Amino acid sequence: MTTDKPFDLVVIGSGPGGYPAAVKAAGLGMNVACIEKAPRPGGVCLNVGCIPSKALLDSSEIYATMKHGLAAHGIQVTDVSLDLTAMMARKNQVVASLTEQVKKLLAANRVTFVSGTAKILDAHHVEVTGEDTGVRILESRFILLATGSAPAAIPGLTFDEDRIVSSTAALSFSELPKTLVGKILKRILVEEEITRQKAAK
Ligand SMILES: Cc1cc2nc3c(=O)[nH]c(=O)nc-3n(C[C@H](O)[C@H](O)[C@H](O)COP(=O)(O)OP(=O)(O)OC[C@H]3O[C@@H](n4cnc5c(N)ncnc54)[C@H](O)[C@@H]3O)c2cc1C
Repeated sequence: MTTDKPFDLVVIGSGPGGYPAAVKAAGLGMNVACIEKAPRPGGVCLNVGCIPSKALLDSSEIYATMKHGLAAHGIQVTDVSLDLTAMMARKNQVVASLTEQVKKLLAANRVTFVSGTAKILDAHHVEVTGEDTGVRILESRFILLATGSAPAAIPGLTFDEDRIVSSTAALSFSELPKTLVGKILKRILVEEEITRQKAAK
């Protein structure tokens, strides 16, 4: 277990809430650390949210236009097909590039990036457990919580990340699903509606 020299601010979480706050505080002259438990900085938005979903939407839009939107323009295209593996690889590349930029931004602003899971010990001490680095205790004048959120499962529909998927798994399908809302979910929703209507009578 190691103890670093005290920070002015320790930010827990490096998503769009955490990393800009860390950079701003460092710019104001504070000695700042930013702790992240995920393998890369950027939070949900950059890793499994806004950015990968928009990268896939971008590719999907091009595909849809090529397949359905060109005939009206008098442009004939044949043999348009979809390579999902290549589409996912491009999405992963976009994510990797942007998360790397966040890492560089933190370093350029002299924010100490600490990899590991944070646990608040008291008002001025945070314990960080990293896979490679073991346990560290950070002392800080202030602690900022920017730990974000996680996907919430519908009761009775536990994520198995195969048929019942969270948004994270939905951004990494290895093959195109034929439908996105399955029969089971439809049946459950219908049964819930019948129960609700019976209770209302
Ligand atoms: C599929 C999808 C698409 C989205 N698209 C958009 C969009 O187009 N536009 C938009 O505005 N928003 C979008 N969002 C929402 C956006 O991603 C969130 O609003 C945003 O990420 C919240 O930022 P945050 O910093 O508060 O939290 P997060 O991004 O969740 O970051 C929190 C970070 O804290 C880390 N953390 C948590 N606990 C600990 C701990 N104990 N120790 C260390 N680290 C910890 C987490 O690993 C995470 O990296 C989308 C979300 C999803 C799921």
